[in-house]
Amino acid sequence: MPLTTTTEMFKKAYDGGYAVGAFNVNNMEIVQGITEAAREQHAPLILQVSKGARAYANHTYLVKLVEAAVIECPDIPIALHLDHGPDFETCKSCIDGGFTSVMIDASSKPFAENIAITRKVVEYAHDHGVVVEAELGSLAGVEDEVNVSAEDSSYTRPEEVEEFVSKTGCDSLAIAIGTSHGAYKFTAAQCTRNEQGVLVPPPLRFDILEEVSRRLPGFPIVLHGSSSVPQEFVKMINENGGKMPDAVGIPEEQLRKAATLSVCKINIDSDLRLAMTGSIRQYFAEHPDHFDPRQYLTPARANIKAIVTHKLINVLGCAGKA
Ligand SMILES: [Zn+2]
Repeated sequence: MPLTTTTEMFKKAYDGGYAVGAFNVNNMEIVQGITEAAREQHAPLILQVSKGARAYANHTYLVKLVEAAVIECPDIPIALHLDHGPDFETCKSCIDGGFTSVMIDASSKPFAENIAITRKVVEYAHDHGVVVEAELGSLAGVEDEVNVSAEDSSYTRPEEVEEFVSKTGCDSLAIAIGTSHGAYKFTAAQCTRNEQGVLVPPPLRFDILEEVSRRLPGFPIVLHGSSSVPQEFVKMINENGGKMPDAVGIPEEQLRKAATLSVCKINIDSDLRLAMTGSIRQYFAEHPDHFDPRQYLTPARANIKAIVTHKLINVLGCAGKA
């Protein structure tokens, strides 16, 4: 099947109590690792591209890599989504350039301005058969060119969501309930430590999610910043010359719970970066004489596939749902 929008995916996910994984792609090995996992697990899939990815790999290369994945995976629906579109022009360029879904992130703007910008993108996107994700509230953390300090982050205010969705016409809404971008989602001061000395972050605000869902019944909610920062990969990095002390993510049980509620799309990027970097560091440590990129990118791609497989089955619950 050709690239699809997320409309049907989200409807089935909402009704089925699971979420679709949205994974960021930047190069061929990442696209292959993710899509091989989704194909084997027969899972619907969102491949997403950030502004930073377009700057790194070039829009055309990324679109053609995703089109290759669509050809290789004829049995699963795949959407191509712009992650954190900063303005109308970037969204328009992706809509004109073959994307089936875009995010306009005007969440740092005042409420009325966020509505106006989002509305403009929605009008253009819907005219071209493309769906739009918007954001209310703002997540802390760093992701490519989005950088929000903990002090400037704010939870979504449920009392604003009905007006926002009805005035913008957006198709899904990213909300802030305590997830965060990057591999250092929380400072040690915000966390407790478990028996192994690993940081445990504060729990997600399910009360906000439930109030949003009560006000927007049937409406798909999106969670950004939802990597869990697997300690096996942090350890692999640190044992092979890396230095990532106290990297911490969102516990998978909490994401699993969110997926059973109104959350239909969960964004995962940092975990794939950690898997790739850990694999390559370990390979270099074990084979200091090797220099063929195919040699070290092979285990990197395999570990991306392994972590995505784990997410599809155990966190998102979307395996077998394509
Ligand atoms: Zn994000």
